[in-house]
Amino acid sequence: MSALPPCPKCSSEYTYEDGAQLVCPECAHEWSAGAAAEADEGARVYRDSVGNVLQDGDTVTVIKDLKLKGGGGTVKVGTKVKNIRLVDADHDIDCKIDGFGAMSLKTEFVKKVV
Ligand SMILES: [Zn+2]
Repeated sequence: MSALPPCPKCSSEYTYEDGAQLVCPECAHEWSAGAAAEADEGARVYRDSVGNVLQDGDTVTVIKDLKLKGGGGTVKVGTKVKNIRLVDADHDIDCKIDGFGAMSLKTEFVKKVV
């Protein structure tokens, strides 16, 4: 049996699943099993290409050549990017790169400088 979360109301450990709902037999509280997962989204953890946790203000290097749209040039592998800002988007890093200006990168294409 998988470990179910305790009842949020009375902390009973005897909760059971009823479809998508979790049910507490002791206080009859019912709640959605997905609620806990949704709450976690506010604390999204950003990781670079090798699994380092990234934070606002970190310095990273680009791990592959990134061609910019519209013939804006190429951000070369090894380019250092300072003071990144993490955002909840497809391209989850907002940053400024010398010579290119403001742009968005993906965490999977960078490596944290430690
Ligand atoms: Zn309960």
